[in-house]
Amino acid sequence: MATGIALIAGAGITGVCVAEWLRRDGWSVTLIDPVQPGSPEQTSYGNAGLLSRISVMPIATQSLVRQLPSMLRDPNSPLFMRWSYLPRLLPWLVPFLRSARAERVEEISAALAALTFDANEQHLALVRGTPAEAFIRKGNLVSLYRDRQAYDGDVLTSRTREKFGLVPELLDRKGILDRDPSIGSAYQFATVFDDYCWLSSPAAYLAALFEHFLRNGGCFRRSRVVSLEPGTVARLTLEDGETLTADTIVLASGAWSKTLARSAGVRVRLEAERGYHVELHSNGYRAPQPYFVMDAKFVLTPMDHALRAAGVAEFGGLDAPPSKRPVELIKEGVRRVYPGLKFEIGQSWMGNRPTTPDSLPVIGATEGAPNILHAYGGQHIGLTIGAKVGRIVADLARRRRPNLDLRPYRPDRF
Ligand SMILES: Cc1cc2nc3c(=O)[nH]c(=O)nc-3n(C[C@H](O)[C@H](O)[C@H](O)COP(=O)(O)OP(=O)(O)OC[C@H]3O[C@@H](n4cnc5c(N)ncnc54)[C@H](O)[C@@H]3O)c2cc1C
Repeated sequence: MATGIALIAGAGITGVCVAEWLRRDGWSVTLIDPVQPGSPEQTSYGNAGLLSRISVMPIATQSLVRQLPSMLRDPNSPLFMRWSYLPRLLPWLVPFLRSARAERVEEISAALAALTFDANEQHLALVRGTPAEAFIRKGNLVSLYRDRQAYDGDVLTSRTREKFGLVPELLDRKGILDRDPSIGSAYQFATVFDDYCWLSSPAAYLAALFEHFLRNGGCFRRSRVVSLEPGTVARLTLEDGETLTADTIVLASGAWSKTLARSAGVRVRLEAERGYHVELHSNGYRAPQPYFVMDAKFVLTPMDHALRAAGVAEFGGLDAPPSKRPVELIKEGVRRVYPGLKFEIGQSWMGNRPTTPDSLPVIGATEGAPNILHAYGGQHIGLTIGAKVGRIVADLARRRRPNLDLRPYRPDRF
């Protein structure tokens, strides 16, 4: 198919990666978003910055389902629920619990591995030679465990990773201290994955890629899309009532995509899985690489301006204000990791991960609306897979067949 006009609703990491690949492929591309790319309203602003090529596990597993009731009651657990939201969460929660079946976990992890295994190369292919390249860092990822038992207890994750060639080096307490003497005695065991990339500022990376897109002929409309309309010519309506037409429309509005998908006739299951970060400033300490703090489910990433502690999960919908307890929990976790260090606490932030019940993103079109392409649902790995999703969407827009099976990500699977 020839190129033409492409409109993209949403300019987070997904929308901007899609936009840049479409532009390179010869499309006349306009990104539409009510906020400027790189601003704090976007989930892509405040994430942990990991290009996590090892993230092959779905969120729902049988072990999580078993622990769920006690986790939700425990104020010290990294999973939170706003209970008033529970009735509205049920249509998502039921398929979420169902996707924890062992055979589904196996299928889902294969579909996740197909998107994550070449994350480093996909990002480099997109940003090489652009100002965004300067924000990519390469090294190791160290996951901190309380003890060896905690690591051995999660056999499913290590076996699944092993299947995809992801085998870490194992560290005892001495190995941890050799790398970083600041790590507290609560952590006696760790794993190390090498060839691991992260961003030194996710917001600056996104803003730099966006600027590159604009400088090379891409366009931006600061507005909110209120509905999509499939047809021989696809249409969308902006908040001021103006209608725009295009050969292809891409829906990339992250956690806000559900209502727009519905307006295009597609019912997707998508929830905002809220996550938080706290920024820490210290005179003199610089983490040698990112840490995944396994018991508290947050990541510590050395960024240009601060050490960022980002993670935890909360269900409460898109509109509820941020909660206090997740931020407190992250701060307590930081004190456990670094009992001997003093940090000045900088900003705290909350963002909305776009999460489907089966942990898989939504990519592609439906039969009834072939020129509306869906691209959202990146959950905890939306940054990781962003560049690859961009390339896949550019292939689909040109009716080229991407070299992976897209059935697991179909928009009409719910
Ligand atoms: C604490 C935390 C840590 C994380 N860490 C990592 C990590 O280390 N690695 C990783 O890969 N992922 C991580 N993630 C997940 C990742 O940040 C998200 O999956 C990703 O940012 C989603 O990108 P997006 O472009 O789909 O959504 P967003 O960045 O949220 O962008 C969506 C855009 O759509 C716009 N929009 C909304 N409604 C409309 C509308 N009606 N019309 C037009 N535009 C609209 C919004 O304004 C927004 O700009 C983390 C998330 C959190 C919360």
